[in-house]
Amino acid sequence: MDRGGARTAQPRRDRDSGIASRSHHAGVDPCSEICLHPGVILITDERCTEYHSPGHPERPERIRGTLAKLRSLPGLKITWEKPVAVDPGVLLRAHTTQHLQRLGEAKSDFDGDTPAHPGIFDHAVRGVGGGLAALAAARRGEPNLSLLRPPGHHATPSRAMGFCYLGTIAITVLEALETGSKRVAVLDFDVHHGNGTEAILAGKKGAFFASIHQHPCYPGTGLADVADNCFNYPVPPEHPRLEYRKVIERALERLLAQKPDLLAVSAGFDAYARDPIAHETLETEDFHWLGERIRKTGLPVFNILEGGYSDDLPELVAAYLKGLTGR
Ligand SMILES: [Zn+2]
Repeated sequence: MDRGGARTAQPRRDRDSGIASRSHHAGVDPCSEICLHPGVILITDERCTEYHSPGHPERPERIRGTLAKLRSLPGLKITWEKPVAVDPGVLLRAHTTQHLQRLGEAKSDFDGDTPAHPGIFDHAVRGVGGGLAALAAARRGEPNLSLLRPPGHHATPSRAMGFCYLGTIAITVLEALETGSKRVAVLDFDVHHGNGTEAILAGKKGAFFASIHQHPCYPGTGLADVADNCFNYPVPPEHPRLEYRKVIERALERLLAQKPDLLAVSAGFDAYARDPIAHETLETEDFHWLGERIRKTGLPVFNILEGGYSDDLPELVAAYLKGLTGR
């Protein structure tokens, strides 16, 4: 969000089971000719860098810089994929017809943080297509990340807000539940409360949501649990990073207690100590820990980029992916 306020040689790897990703023990790399590390599926589309507003923190360089960093990263085997096509009915499970019409027209800004960029509907739909591609990768047992903009976790059923236009992760969770998953848990570690994901998933059978976020901070929600499936973990500003990790661990444990068969991750990197629009304390190694912790759940996982506005975003994403793939 939001300005202050307002894949290899694949030796020995069973591509269809993801066994390697769940049995590997870190610390014995280095990934050379005989490599037991899984690769990673990165879903992107460079058209997502084609829009911007001067001075806006949610800027094209977030993706350009991250793509450049990942392309140059030694040892990380990347398979690049494109977002898949999205059926309008998939969007309508989460959003009102009026909201989709307004997005399509994009005649006026949605709020001060959320401009009516030309073509923003198509950009946001490609974001959803990235989520769906990440879901497919998760079901193949392959580590993945959808690296697109705009982010999505603040978009409610009827409103674009906080740099977000469509509820990408919630839409993808509803599609997962419609296509065979029984219990899907969403871990949102973006520093801002995932109010949009919550608004879409509250009370939805089989969906569980946990958000760890700074409070007070935009959008000001997420102080208490909602319905019986949305769990909120507000954290004061400047919370010591090892304590912040403990809160994330508690949230994750609560999600795992719901016995999910699929884990969805709203991967936001703005709880970083030097993020310009929040005031938390995480360091690069904490995002590596997060990736590793999520890998160790042994669940199929799909990951969608949310926020993260510092110039160090590429390093943070790289650390997360290393954790996610056991490096
Ligand atoms: Zn955020």
